[in-house]
Amino acid sequence: MDFSFKLVKKDQKTHARAGTISTPHGKIETPAFSPVATKASVKGLTSEDLKEANTQVVLANAYHLYLRPGVETIENFGGFAPFMKWEGPTITDSGGYQVSFLWQKTRKKEQGIRNKARVTDFGMYFYSHIDGSEHVLTPKISMEIQHALAADIIMALDQPMSQRFSREKNKDAYIRTLKWEEESFKVWKELESKRKNGSFQALFGIIQGQTDKKLRRECLKFILDTGFPGIAIGDESIGADPRITAKSLDAISHFLPDDKPLHALGLGGGPEGVFEAVTRGVDIFDNASVTRMARTGLLFIYPEDGGKVGNKFRLNIKSGRFKGDRKPISKKCLCYTCKNYSRGYIHHLLVSEEPLGVRLTTIHNIHFYNDLMIRIRKAIIEDRFLELKKYWLGRSRV
Ligand SMILES: [Zn+2]
Repeated sequence: MDFSFKLVKKDQKTHARAGTISTPHGKIETPAFSPVATKASVKGLTSEDLKEANTQVVLANAYHLYLRPGVETIENFGGFAPFMKWEGPTITDSGGYQVSFLWQKTRKKEQGIRNKARVTDFGMYFYSHIDGSEHVLTPKISMEIQHALAADIIMALDQPMSQRFSREKNKDAYIRTLKWEEESFKVWKELESKRKNGSFQALFGIIQGQTDKKLRRECLKFILDTGFPGIAIGDESIGADPRITAKSLDAISHFLPDDKPLHALGLGGGPEGVFEAVTRGVDIFDNASVTRMARTGLLFIYPEDGGKVGNKFRLNIKSGRFKGDRKPISKKCLCYTCKNYSRGYIHHLLVSEEPLGVRLTTIHNIHFYNDLMIRIRKAIIEDRFLELKKYWLGRSRV
């Protein structure tokens, strides 16, 4: 088995920890950020751009790649990493989240049809957002798709709970998740035992339960008892408000084992959310909004540039006040964009909708997040994590 998690240092006062995840395609020094390459591409960037922005790992989306270009095409390339010419560690998600939430939105928006994906204990039935064809996602199918996509870290199939669901529906989703995760684990074991080509994939079990302490703890116990090599935490309570994310994580922080990494799926809340998650033991996370915001002109800045909780550590480069500004986005940032281009030029590119603008802003936001994680890791190792957190957040709101 070519997968392990080793603790390098644990913070004395919080659950923050620095560690190393070893995968068949290299190491990930944690805490770490994973940019999202939804369709085997971080929009606008080459794999060389990602490397130059200090990226350690990328996450692709099983749902999107299954629908297009299709599993067989990617399998013939040896997985989505060689397909996109990425040589480092990789992650895929199970597709459960996309089927549950994104599909409903797309379907309603584009076709005006209030037709939801159908979920039974067998699986999730859904229609392709590309051609309307019907598909079903079961734990077995999700494992087979992710096996073919060949990422180093893969996710069990779950049905995320939602604040929009009734109490009853959430209870069903939770029970179904445990059943599906158990099935995912069995299929994964079988696939690994028959493996002839390629390298070991580590399956992560996903903790559901929203902000319900009892459910979160019970779900973590189930994942540890089953023997998943890694742990993930999901659903919308991890996605946006740092206070809600903190509440969800507080339920499990005390019970995290030292030899298994914790991945927060779609961790939101900007740098504040990152500090609060790391405080509670998160080792690795992905977030599509870091690159999505870059495309709309929302760019991250350091405290030295005026970044603070109040402005969410970001500026809007499309604002008229940056027209003609000769300074870089951030005086502190060492990314390719900040070393070479001015705010004024990037402002012009984005308001003129020039594709180069998206490339430059995406490089900056990814570099910023990776650099933030390098700083946090260093602070944990040097016993000054809370000092760094205080410098960034001021008096913490959480
Ligand atoms: Zn920069």
